[in-house]
Amino acid sequence: MAAGVATWLPFARAAAVGWLPLAKKSMPKPPVDKKSRNDEILFVNVSGLRFQTWKNTLDRYPDTLLGSSEKEFFFNEETQEYFFDRDPEMFRHILNFYRTGKLHYPRHECIQAFDEELAFYGIVPEIIGDCCMEEYRDRKKENLERLA
Ligand SMILES: [Zn+2]
Repeated sequence: MAAGVATWLPFARAAAVGWLPLAKKSMPKPPVDKKSRNDEILFVNVSGLRFQTWKNTLDRYPDTLLGSSEKEFFFNEETQEYFFDRDPEMFRHILNFYRTGKLHYPRHECIQAFDEELAFYGIVPEIIGDCCMEEYRDRKKENLERLA
């Protein structure tokens, strides 16, 4: 019995010796550069749904609510996060705008509700991407006619 274990052990050791340096070698280099390591993750709570993003991402558009110091009015010291009592589903599109530079219009949303969110966050609808602009304009026109 003991002999069986003893014969097996060298193989286990050999495997360990062979495996360890390999594991060290195959560790991928972390994909962060110096710049992003100095960045800070911000927590944004929108009606209970928590979003996380880099501060640098929001700083890309300093004329908007999230990109400016205006957002500090919404900072909750206790939870250490920004809190917005707004629609979290539409916020996804707002946040993606900071990430990609493209604002998409969610077809299933009421255009007026979408416009109100944009106005709240200080984003002008003119920057809606070409992929969604036509749809946005059509819906806008339709809505104006409906309300007239
Ligand atoms: Zn689009």
